[in-house]
Amino acid sequence: MKINETLYLFKEKGILDSNTYLIKEKLTVLIDPGRENYLEPRLKEMQDDGIDPEDIDLIIITHLHPDHCGATAALKEVSGAKVALHSSQREYFDVMAEESRKFLGTCSIEKFNADLVLGERLSLGTLELDIMHTPGHSPCSICFYVEVKKILICGDLVFERGVGRTDLPFGDAEELKNSIEMVSGRDTKLLLPGHGARIEGRVNLERNYKFVKAVL
Ligand SMILES: [Zn+2]
Ligand SMILES: [Zn+2]
Repeated sequence: MKINETLYLFKEKGILDSNTYLIKEKLTVLIDPGRENYLEPRLKEMQDDGIDPEDIDLIIITHLHPDHCGATAALKEVSGAKVALHSSQREYFDVMAEESRKFLGTCSIEKFNADLVLGERLSLGTLELDIMHTPGHSPCSICFYVEVKKILICGDLVFERGVGRTDLPFGDAEELKNSIEMVSGRDTKLLLPGHGARIEGRVNLERNYKFVKAVL
């Protein structure tokens, strides 16, 4: 589904899947491929919006949970796209993959290689993504902030009236709180979370931050 001229959303398709976002620019980047068994319907949905797998230049992920990155290896294969990981994601890849195998069995992270390591910024052409390390839900959680559009893609950090779980392996409630504090300081008009609905408008966003901070 097209959200604006350059941004697309493909909603989570079921249990242990996540929202996928795609930014079509000079460099087309897909954020969170979702769970592997939903890749086929997701690709179909993308094609209905005029996006072919080959159009994707780069795959990036908000964190290493299988509902967000399970389909990465398969999508890389079918699209020929490169994968860029944050340094924390490179560091934690093996332990996070092992944990998901232990706890979730079939819903695991298939091994994929990172072609690139993300720095603090990623230029897509006209738009730039600020890469923010936001640990708490996982030690390798990152957010993407598009300053010119005031958009924050936040993975499982914060949702509509909720925050990411911290009871999973390597979760840390204190870090989550600090990360939310950090991102809420960024002027944002559109919040795009890994699950559930997007939040639009500064007033609604401020209200939501106030609500979640009160329960943290
Ligand atoms: Zn998660
Ligand atoms: Zn998730």
